[in-house]
Amino acid sequence: MKEVLLLKYGEIVLKGLNRGYFNSVLESRVKRALKNVQGEFYYDYAQSTLCITPSDDADIDAAYERVKKVFGVATVCRGIACEKDMDDIQSKLAENVDFLLGNAKTFKCDAKRSDKKFPLKSPEICAICGGTVLENRPDMKVDVINPERVITIEIRDRQAFIHGNGEKGAGGVPVGSSGRAMLMLSGGIDSPVAGHMIARRGAAIDAVYFETPPYTGEAAAMKVQTLAEKLTEYCGEIYLHSVSLTEIQETLVSTCKERLFTLLLRRFMVRCASKIAKKYGAGCLITGESLAQVASQTMLALGVTDAVSELPILRPCIGLDKEEIVVRAREIGTFETSILPYEDCCTVFTPKHPDTRPDMAEILEEEAKLDVDALVERALATDRFIKLG
Ligand code: ATP
Ligand code: MG
Repeated sequence: MKEVLLLKYGEIVLKGLNRGYFNSVLESRVKRALKNVQGEFYYDYAQSTLCITPSDDADIDAAYERVKKVFGVATVCRGIACEKDMDDIQSKLAENVDFLLGNAKTFKCDAKRSDKKFPLKSPEICAICGGTVLENRPDMKVDVINPERVITIEIRDRQAFIHGNGEKGAGGVPVGSSGRAMLMLSGGIDSPVAGHMIARRGAAIDAVYFETPPYTGEAAAMKVQTLAEKLTEYCGEIYLHSVSLTEIQETLVSTCKERLFTLLLRRFMVRCASKIAKKYGAGCLITGESLAQVASQTMLALGVTDAVSELPILRPCIGLDKEEIVVRAREIGTFETSILPYEDCCTVFTPKHPDTRPDMAEILEEEAKLDVDALVERALATDRFIKLG
């Protein structure tokens, strides 16, 4: 059997005049996803579907798993390529009927004829192919209203394809089509999910991790690296920056009011992250914040952190419950890493009673005791980055 992968494009088919641009970004993301998969792959795009034909030695199972993670793809089907000829279509259908039906008990046939010169019309193709299925699998029942399996026969310009239901793709729009964003990546559950959500809307992602050596260790840094690596399966390459906030945290502890530590620290993080973002061409920051989750995520606290950002801060988890974020973290495969127990720099100096209703004047008064610009500059001098993916 000659199997092919059929990728049905999602939202980008609605992009009107920009469609060509989105298509080319998506095709290059797909090619990139298959770069290290064994075999050669040939690409043919038509009618909102990318057909990928593998060479005989290709690892099609691995290719299938990879393309399911490419944003911009709505559905992925494993199909069979045929000649544009009913004899060949019927014989391939008969040969592969078990593969196409899986363990379904009811089915219907559906025909899509983009080549209008093909001598048979869609209902005729369906009738013939339905008959072929029943001849080979008399145990099957036709159900045109609610079938367990739809066998689709597509007649295209150069070839015909037969495929079953297909699986849901990753959805969204292709990475890189919406610019670049800087993810503030802690070792927690929320921030990898936030990065995934914004990458799914087309942003290429870089990440910054703030550490506090020697209070936070190598294991915590490795955990963040593992999370970033997981994200590369969806986002492609990620530059992961690490910045030391040790001097800033020690200065806050010795100089400022304890109940404001967390917020003052977050303002420093955002100052540093937005400077790094601008330096490397990112147009916004991403955080995993969710309204009311912790003291630093009240409406007033978010306002206090926003005030020092030089860029918009995207918070895609803002309206999600923790449970919902956990479901997403499991789906994208980051949860098990996120729950490993290592210190985060936020937890090292957590105040006993953090302020949930911060007063901006008081925050500014505390910061007036510090040389904010010099602290930021020295923290940025510790920036190191590695390329992942
Ligand atoms: P999470 O567990 O998702 O990563 P959280 O629930 O622990 O977040 P906070 O610690 O208040 O909440 O952090 C809120 C957000 O700030 C995080 O989602 C992340 O985007 C950013 N952040 C927190 N700590 C760090 C850090 N050490 N390095 C980089 N970003 C951080
Ligand atoms: Mg955290």
